[in-house]
Amino acid sequence: MSQHTSDVVVIGGGNAALCAALAAREHGVTVTVLEAATEALRGGNSRFTGGAVRMVFDTVEDLQAIYSDLSEEEKRSAEFGTYTTEQYYDDMGRLTQYRTNPDLCETLITQSYDAYMWVKQKGVKYIPSFGRQAYKVGGKFKFFGGLAVQISGGGEGLIEALFRAARREEVAVHYRTRAVGLIQDAKGAVSGVRASCQGRSEEFRCKAIVIASGGFESNVEWRTRYLGRGWDLAKVRGTRYNRGEGIEMALAVGAMPYGQWSGCHAVSWDLNAPEFGDLDIGDAFSRHSYPYSLMINAEGKRFVDEGADLQTYTYAKYGAAVLAQPGQFAWQVWDAKTVHLQREVYRGRRVTKVKADTLEELARKLDGVNAERFLATVREFNSAARTNAEFNPAVKDGLATIGLELPKSNWALPIDRPPFEGYATTCGITFTFGGLRVNTGAEVLDTEERPIPGLYAAGELVGGLFYFNYPTGAGLTSGTVFGRIAGNGAGRRARGG
Ligand SMILES: Cc1cc2nc3c(=O)[nH]c(=O)nc-3n(C[C@H](O)[C@H](O)[C@H](O)COP(=O)(O)OP(=O)(O)OC[C@H]3O[C@@H](n4cnc5c(N)ncnc54)[C@H](O)[C@@H]3O)c2cc1C
Repeated sequence: MSQHTSDVVVIGGGNAALCAALAAREHGVTVTVLEAATEALRGGNSRFTGGAVRMVFDTVEDLQAIYSDLSEEEKRSAEFGTYTTEQYYDDMGRLTQYRTNPDLCETLITQSYDAYMWVKQKGVKYIPSFGRQAYKVGGKFKFFGGLAVQISGGGEGLIEALFRAARREEVAVHYRTRAVGLIQDAKGAVSGVRASCQGRSEEFRCKAIVIASGGFESNVEWRTRYLGRGWDLAKVRGTRYNRGEGIEMALAVGAMPYGQWSGCHAVSWDLNAPEFGDLDIGDAFSRHSYPYSLMINAEGKRFVDEGADLQTYTYAKYGAAVLAQPGQFAWQVWDAKTVHLQREVYRGRRVTKVKADTLEELARKLDGVNAERFLATVREFNSAARTNAEFNPAVKDGLATIGLELPKSNWALPIDRPPFEGYATTCGITFTFGGLRVNTGAEVLDTEERPIPGLYAAGELVGGLFYFNYPTGAGLTSGTVFGRIAGNGAGRRARGG
C-alpha cells in the first residue's frame, strides 16, 4: 500500500471540493484532492449544471461588480430587480416549510454574495442570465425568481476555471481515487483517508479533511431505501459517482445524520435520457418550461398545478410528482401561443417530442396516454381558462382557471392554437437532501453535536438546508459558501490554528 501525506485532504472534485481546496491553500498549507472520477469525467454534478447561482443583490451596482461584463445597452434593456436577504429568507423558509436550519440558512444567505466575489477572484466568470431567467415584457427584459446571475460557460465553465485555479495554486489532484474510509488517531481526530486508486489501496495522511463527495442520488439501493418506493426508477441527471460514500464514511466515525433523508431535488427530464447524466448533453434533458403547458399523465389527466408558482420555485419538487404517475411519465402539452417561451433545450438534439395540427392528432401521438380522456381534460381546461388578467410570463400573472378541482393558478391560457406539441418526460433526480450535520464552521458534528476534530463537510452532503423543495441556484451557493468555510477551517487547523 502506498502512503501519501498532505496537510489537508479534500474528498471530491466538484464545486464544493474545489472551493474548499482553494480556500485551504490560502493558509499556506499543502492540499490534496481525491476525485473518484477519471480526469475526463471530473467535476461531479457541478459540471452538469446550467450554472444558475442564487446570491443576495441589493442594487444593479452589486450585479455590475459580479458580472465580468455588462454593457450600457444591456443595463438599459433590462430590469434586474433586487434579491435582498429578506427575499432569500422568505424563499428558503416558504419552500422548506420552515424546516431549514436557521443557522445554516443564515450562513448560506448572508455569505452568498461575498463567496461568489471570492470565486470570481479565482477566475470564474459571471454573466446576466438573460436566456433563462428573463422574459421580454413591454420591450424590456425582466428578471424573475431572484436569479440574475449565471456562470459563463455553465458547469463546464465553472469546473474548468476551478481546476485551472487549483493547478495554479499547486493543489495536488488524484483522479480515479475513491475514498473508502476515514482514519482516526487515538484521540478521535481524523488523521487520514483510505482510498482505492485504480484497484490499489492507498493511504493519505493529513491534519484535516473536507468531505465534499456529493449526496447518494446515484446509488439505486440507498435511493430506494431512504427516498422510498419508485425511486429506483428515477433517472440520474448528473454524475454516476455520488453514491453516498462520503456520508457513509463520516457516519462510521460517529457523525450525526441530519436533514430530510426521505427528500430530494428531482425535475421533469426527457423520457429517453440515459440512466446517468451525459456530459455531451449536460442539462439539456431538463424540461423546466412546463408552467406554460399542461402536464398530462397516462390516464389523460392533469396531476399538478403547473402554474402554482414561478418555475424556479416548483421545478425541484415536480419531478417527484411525475415519478408518482402510472408508468412514471408525463407529457407536457403546448399550443402555438406559448412555445416561444420554451427554453432553448426544447429544441435541442435529443428531445422526445411530437407535433400535430389538431388536438385529436396530438392525442393519437401521445404514447401511452388515454386519448379520449386527454381530449376531455383539454376541453374541460379550456372552458375553465379565463381572460381575467393579462398573460405575463415574468410574474405570477393571476391568469387562473375557474372552477377546476385541480386549478392552474397562473398562465392558464387555453390550449387551442395549432400546431400543438407534446414533450415526453420522466423524473430526473438531481441530488438528495439528507446528509451530515455540520455547524456554521462546516465542522462535522457527532451524535452529541460536538465537532469531530479535523473533519469538515460541504456541498450536497450537508443536511438541514433543504426540505421538500428548493430555490434554483442554491445548490452551487451551498457548495461555494460551505466549501470556502470548510477549506478555511481545515487550512487553519492544519496550520495549527
Ligand atoms: C443537470 C444538473 C443541473 C443543475 N443545475 C444547477 C444550477 O443551475 N444551479 C445550481 O445551483 N445547482 C444546480 N445543480 C445542482 C448542483 O450541481 C449541485 O447541488 C452542486 O453542484 C453539488 O456540488 P458538490 O460539490 O456538493 O457535488 P458534486 O459537484 O457532485 O461533486 C461531488 C464529487 O465527489 C466525487 N466523489 C464521489 N464519491 C467519492 C469518493 N468516494 N471519493 C472521491 N470522490 C468522490 C465525485 O466524483 C464528484 O467529483 C444541477 C445539478 C444537475 C445534475
